[in-house]
Amino acid sequence: MDIEGEDKQEVKEGSNVLTLADFLESIPPNQPFKISDLSKITYRSNLARYVDEICTPELQLHCPSDVCNGPRFFRCINQSAPILTQQSYKFLYLTYRCSNCQNTTKVFSLAAQIDEEKEASGECFKLGELPPFGPPTPSRLITLIGPDRDTFLKGRRCENQGLGIGAFIYYRRVVENQKNRILSEIIKVSEKIGVKKASIEALKSAIDETQFSKALTIAKDAIPESLLIN
Ligand SMILES: [Zn+2]
Repeated sequence: MDIEGEDKQEVKEGSNVLTLADFLESIPPNQPFKISDLSKITYRSNLARYVDEICTPELQLHCPSDVCNGPRFFRCINQSAPILTQQSYKFLYLTYRCSNCQNTTKVFSLAAQIDEEKEASGECFKLGELPPFGPPTPSRLITLIGPDRDTFLKGRRCENQGLGIGAFIYYRRVVENQKNRILSEIIKVSEKIGVKKASIEALKSAIDETQFSKALTIAKDAIPESLLIN
């Protein structure tokens, strides 16, 4: 990665400063971020004073309902926005609802603190969200993965919580299992079209090989020509 010159500046300035909407939409829980537009000054007549209340920007989130099934605008339905201070973190919930189907909700559990009174900026930490954070997994992908669905979804959950290495281990297991599924299908075809025995044996030994790259080396010469594209 090139972080010389201008890029370096950008990395420094861009480090961890987000708009609240970007933060809520795209950051998994458990990482503190500087937010440029965390609060706004509002007059509360019941308190007879001005307060810094948390902003509740419109969000674009995936709505899984039958009516929507895609990205939709969600709006905050809290009765009143929680008030923030600069002394300490305020722990709060924001509830959002899909503006299209009026049915799907998303709840964020946050810790938030403003930098200074009457200033928009501050820090925010996502304690959690319900339904859990994560881009939707296309149903076609789930179908394709077949029996490895549960392992794949475990990897997905790790990834969504920023646990990259954990995710990697699950995904690797999926890839290895898929390798064997694909090779088994190739063997079925090979037997049907009468490929020579040695090739079928080679494919079978590729299934037994635990090292992925070795298995591919073994398999690549044994794959029947009719299955090759160009
Ligand atoms: Zn919806």
